[in-house]
Amino acid sequence: MARINSNYKNLPKSYLFSEIARKTKAFSEANPDMEILKLGIGNTTQALVPAVIKGLMLGVEKLSSKKTYTGYGDEQGDTRLRQALANWYEKRGVNLEPEEIFISDGAKSDAANIASIFDQNSIVAITDPVYPVYLDSNITSGRKIVYLEALEENNFIPNPPKQKKDLIFLCSPNNPTGAVMNKKQLKEFVDYAIKFNAVIIFDAAYSEYISDKGLPRSIYEIKGAKSCAIELQSFSKSAGFTGVRLGWTVVPKDLVIEGSKTGEINQIWNRRQTTMFNGASNIAQEGGLAVLSNEGQRQTARQIKYYMENAAIIKKGLESIGLKVFGGENAPYIWVKTPNKLTSWEFFDKLLNEAHVVSTPGSGFGSMGEGYIRLSAFGSAENIKKAVESIKRNLKI
Ligand code: PLP
Repeated sequence: MARINSNYKNLPKSYLFSEIARKTKAFSEANPDMEILKLGIGNTTQALVPAVIKGLMLGVEKLSSKKTYTGYGDEQGDTRLRQALANWYEKRGVNLEPEEIFISDGAKSDAANIASIFDQNSIVAITDPVYPVYLDSNITSGRKIVYLEALEENNFIPNPPKQKKDLIFLCSPNNPTGAVMNKKQLKEFVDYAIKFNAVIIFDAAYSEYISDKGLPRSIYEIKGAKSCAIELQSFSKSAGFTGVRLGWTVVPKDLVIEGSKTGEINQIWNRRQTTMFNGASNIAQEGGLAVLSNEGQRQTARQIKYYMENAAIIKKGLESIGLKVFGGENAPYIWVKTPNKLTSWEFFDKLLNEAHVVSTPGSGFGSMGEGYIRLSAFGSAENIKKAVESIKRNLKI
């Protein structure tokens, strides 16, 4: 008799974005002439840069001739792109072989699938609040989960757990708090993982938003990390590939745990991908190569600067009216403490009703997100300015 996976019953009710949409729609219907300013969702809004468009067009062009046409490619990714990423890491002082880099259709699916190559009984540590995919994917596979609390008191960077845990999910720069781990904090996790034979799954999807030269953009900048960490990466936020879909996952050959041989975990992920994934789009991969070209890097850096200027406008504007604001300096998210002890949803309603601004309630990212809202800098500068002006003018605190 077929039965559904009962772990799905343990998932938190996924009402966050649907509830935001419902409330926004209701407000818009009640106030048809009012402009609603959306700073809620972390979706990119600006057009792809010219160098990348050229790369994508080249990918399409190649499909138009029998000589250059390609069908299925290597599941692990185009060798040229894997090599280009190895070169990209090398410029940052990180040495990786192309075979350690697996091209994906974005970080989300790998974030959800990566734990499947480890023992079913692994105990998983997840920071709270955080991007919900790590939690939900481990709930559906029935793993035991412990939370590492990210609070104002620890600047939203938790310490490593006291007892032995097996898999640790970290996200830096963090979605939603915008907090970024420094080298010392990250080293504490690496040392912990080495000591306890644990594996860190490090989500660096927002690494390109780090402008502070002292902060690590890859976990492999920390000595010893190759022996204990997997890195998830994405072209979504660094190059606007949210709809194009392209990312990568690094599984170093040096990554070993108790009972595993050098290269074995890399080989198991290779086996998993060649069995269950059919490779990223060849057009998207041609676009990815263009992102990594000198011109692509220059142009995407300008776009990142544009979003970070938005972040600065939000941060400054909200601080000027006395709100307590975190993040937004090396990350495109601004984490705002609700005034007067309002709950996340109460402040969401207040911002919508009084300033006509849509935010994301922090409680949707974990229980420790209660009492905060997240604002995103991914809008157009014009909208961001309007939203901040409206908050300054209309919000009653
Ligand atoms: N990781 C984090 C922390 C994210 O916030 C997101 C998307 O918002 C992703 C991964 C998903 O990235 P991708 O578009 O590459 O699937």
